[in-house]
Amino acid sequence: MSKQYSFEAETERLLELLTHSIYSNKDIFLRELISNASDAIDKARIKSLTDSNYLGENNIFEIKIDVDNKNHIIIIEDNGIWMTQEEVIKNIGTIAKSGTKDFLDKLKGSKEQNNLIGQFWVGFYSVFMIAEKVELETKSNDSQHSVIWTSEWKWNYNIELWNKKSRWTTIKIFLKPEEKEYAENWKLRELIKKHSHYVGVPILMKEIANEDKNSQEKWEQINETKAIWNKNKSEITSEEYSEFYSSLSYDFKKPLSHIHISTEWIVSYKSILFIPQEKNMFAWNDDPSKEYWPKLFVQNVLILEKARDLLPVWLRFISWVVQTSDIPLNISREMLQANSSLEKIKKWLTKKILEKLKFELKENKENYDTFLQNYGKILKEWIYYDADLKEEIAGIVKFYSLLENKEITLEEYLEKAKVEKTEGEGEEKKEIKTIYYITAKNLAEAKANPYIDQFKNKNIDVLLLVDTIDEWIVGVLNEYAGNKLTSITSSNLELQNEEEKKDFEEKTKEFKDLFELIKNTIWSDKIEKVQATSRLGENVWALTTKEWWLTPQMEKMMKAMGQAIPTQKRILELNPKSPLVISMFDEFKKDLKSEKLRDMIQYVYEQAILLEWWELEDYRWFINRINKFIK
Ligand code: ADP
Repeated sequence: MSKQYSFEAETERLLELLTHSIYSNKDIFLRELISNASDAIDKARIKSLTDSNYLGENNIFEIKIDVDNKNHIIIIEDNGIWMTQEEVIKNIGTIAKSGTKDFLDKLKGSKEQNNLIGQFWVGFYSVFMIAEKVELETKSNDSQHSVIWTSEWKWNYNIELWNKKSRWTTIKIFLKPEEKEYAENWKLRELIKKHSHYVGVPILMKEIANEDKNSQEKWEQINETKAIWNKNKSEITSEEYSEFYSSLSYDFKKPLSHIHISTEWIVSYKSILFIPQEKNMFAWNDDPSKEYWPKLFVQNVLILEKARDLLPVWLRFISWVVQTSDIPLNISREMLQANSSLEKIKKWLTKKILEKLKFELKENKENYDTFLQNYGKILKEWIYYDADLKEEIAGIVKFYSLLENKEITLEEYLEKAKVEKTEGEGEEKKEIKTIYYITAKNLAEAKANPYIDQFKNKNIDVLLLVDTIDEWIVGVLNEYAGNKLTSITSSNLELQNEEEKKDFEEKTKEFKDLFELIKNTIWSDKIEKVQATSRLGENVWALTTKEWWLTPQMEKMMKAMGQAIPTQKRILELNPKSPLVISMFDEFKKDLKSEKLRDMIQYVYEQAILLEWWELEDYRWFINRINKFIK
């Protein structure tokens, strides 16, 4: 006795889509069917609490998956809740779910149909991506007959009754010829491990070795039924954490640290996060578009493998999972962004990570340094992008110290820095210091900066900022714990004592006319002014910028990014005690129109330009001038 029914219109649309889909990740059908089976088992478990006869003898919950690879059939069985004939028609013949409706609406206007499928929970019908025929049989304890629902997806399905012995829901999938590779035991095992490893019900398959010997069937469990994040922290060994970390990151070295959170507060979720130490396959690259994002589990089912909106992009080195029951299973990537529960999780986790890093910085120094070497640059992005936390984050990264000859934290810098003034009274009293830095391409260049000598001589430390991102960081940071960050090249820097100041004023007067000539000799659009300075030690000259101007490095970077930045004028500072400046002055007094003087002026300016890693307009002139001097 078989009866034919038609699909409702909405279902038809979905089926049409799925059967004609060229969506490449057809694998998800198994995840959907396993999740249905696991739901059915959860429901049966709940029913059996009030109805002790509900389960009958068949009371150990499991999902069995078998293949017939000669006939290209996959068989999925579960002993969860069963369906009556009416329920089969209602549940399998219609789409009552709002999520699927959403999905269909989205698809209507989208050119990206194929990408969208994988992000939605398309349910039972996804099986038609790989099946030419599907048979679902379900039987209750107290009925003699089972109900069989069959469809070859031709706008209709059949229902018939049959005699089945025990209570199981069985789904038989007859694969399309071109999808026959799914009828392989190993292939299904792989998919289970990938998408359904943490489903809370045992998923069994026949042992591969015994596949053909039906007489001695041996089933083995493929998945890990107790997800590690559902376990008590005290039950988990550090080996288990490490193994789990390796399965997420493909990094087989120990992570720096992990965070295991289980909370019911505001949003209920569980999460395990790992901070790596060594570079790993996903997270070692500076490129934020690489894929190494957290896995999102909803109700213990993996629903998004790359839930990239769950942590800010500068924490992309974190490998982690999050499990929550507070968001719908059919959440899409777009919906994720707007989901307030996830927004709360994100905020909270970000805070936790920062706390953990602070802890590791103090308690796990050596390993933390390895971590910084590998991930410090990415961590610094956080300072740039997170206005609220920037100072806290600046506290956990390190910068190279001129005097210590190694990387140090800003705290360590401040411990040794000179107090400039104190603010406040009593308990509130605070010592204010200056944090000096120089940005450069590399350490050698930073150390060759003409201003460095003076700091060294006065035993003042300078941070040598040599990562490209550092330039941006000092642009947003300005100060750390009330202590100002100051570039050693900024022109209003005052390190002189009274004697040096007096000397400087006298020389300025004396050299005034020479400096005016120098300024006019060099293009006036390049130089704002020329002045004497006492801060140069043995050095002859330096080019500085006013504090609020772009630094030369920043200017260069912005130009390279195609921004229309006018060339910033510089201040040329000269050391009146240097032999070169003195002989320029002598020459000036003799003949202020001499070619030699002009050459000397150009030569000094060009040197300054070169050391700032700008390019000369014409190198030939520079070389000619040197040759002339040698002669
Ligand atoms: P969803 O599971 O999201 O509700 P599906 O299209 O996957 O959507 O399934 C539709 C319905 O069919 C389910 O809600 C459930 O009631 C029923 N169903 C599916 N698979 C099973 C199963 N293995 N056992 C019992 N009921 C099932």
